Amino acid sequence: MKASIISVGTEILFGQILNTNTQYLTKELNGLGIDVYYHFTVGDNQIRLEEILNYALEKSDLIITTGGLGPTQDDLTKETIAKVMGTSLFKHEPSYESLINYFKRSNKIMNENNLKQVYLPKGSLILDNDCGTAPGFILSKDQKTIACLPGPPKEMKCMFQNYVIPYLKERSCDVIHSKILKFFGIGESALETELLDLISNQTNPTLATYAKDGEVSLRVTAKENSIEKAIQLIDPMICIIKNKLGNYLYSCEDEELVEVVAKKLIEEKITISFAESCTGGLMAAKLTDISGISSSLETSVITYSNQAKIDELGVKKETLQKYGAVSEQTAKEMVLGLKQRTGSDLCLSITGIAGPTGGTKDKPVGLVYIGLCYKDSFICEKHNISGDRNRVRNYTSMLALNLIRKTIS
Ligand code: ATP
Ligand code: MG
Repeated sequence: MKASIISVGTEILFGQILNTNTQYLTKELNGLGIDVYYHFTVGDNQIRLEEILNYALEKSDLIITTGGLGPTQDDLTKETIAKVMGTSLFKHEPSYESLINYFKRSNKIMNENNLKQVYLPKGSLILDNDCGTAPGFILSKDQKTIACLPGPPKEMKCMFQNYVIPYLKERSCDVIHSKILKFFGIGESALETELLDLISNQTNPTLATYAKDGEVSLRVTAKENSIEKAIQLIDPMICIIKNKLGNYLYSCEDEELVEVVAKKLIEEKITISFAESCTGGLMAAKLTDISGISSSLETSVITYSNQAKIDELGVKKETLQKYGAVSEQTAKEMVLGLKQRTGSDLCLSITGIAGPTGGTKDKPVGLVYIGLCYKDSFICEKHNISGDRNRVRNYTSMLALNLIRKTIS
């Protein structure tokens, strides 16, 4: 099935908002095994929208539009779709009732133009808006389908997940099943290079990569006539990928790195403490996002100044003078001091230069040491992280989580 996405909204053409809807929908459709051939963006202009709709209808079987469903005069997506599909709008009573109820419940005054929302194309399947007020719809004619969704990303995603995905799945004779593999420590292009032979020869299952800062996800999707058969296609592919990139792979269940680490710490009953300098408590903040971590996480001390490193962790003044606060020696004394103070099974220290100031030729911004003490062994990793202050701090915490993961798994 070939699909096109049409984003309606002059503010997108002006560059005032980033078109995140198209990115989201493309990935979701690809995940369902639907090929997206075209992305169009058009302003709130009936003539140009009509042109694009006619063109997209010629080129694709499925069109998804977002935006222009609301109550204002510039919202004309529905009218235009109705025209192109040879139908007209009618007042949809259930949507009218729920709009009235919505205004009653929320004690807001309804304007006359709000009623525009409940006029929808005849012959369409009306989609409730569970996260807002403007309903969407799906309209089919001559083997062509148009799904019309609201512009606000939250409402759009909600409607797509709740109604469009089930609609598409129901009409497909295939079961589409995916697994999401998560990698850390390898970039998207390096990962694609490693998997090039698999990616260029892919048919079923298909592979698609997505990058987030420092992390890469790989979606393995299979189309089959039953879920069991789809899994039978996916599992051997995962085995091949594991053999190639197992070192970087931390989850086959679409989990975050911190979730994987926290789960393992809890399961293995490993206690943990942190001594953080440049990350200022990020490690503790991330872990405490995970419920149940209280059985593992014991202490987190933020020792930002040299004096705090001396007072709280027993780092020697001479060490700080001789090697500096950002050094392997300091990271080691921090973690050993923490171990002595807490007795936690796993202790981790972080010291680094987050920038943008404070860097020197020998110790540039982004230089970070992570010390880790587990049982009787000590290791220290040195990293040079690029980017601004925010990235250095955040990426350091990811590196530390990954070090913990590798140590305990
Ligand atoms: P409303 O009822 O809010 O008027 P609508 O369906 O008419 O909804 P628009 O008026 O086109 O949608 O857009 C509403 C808001 O949704 C925009 O101001 C923008 O913030 C967001 N939005 C619209 N389209 C996109 C898009 N493609 N990507 C990201 N955000 C979008
Ligand atoms: Mg609008």
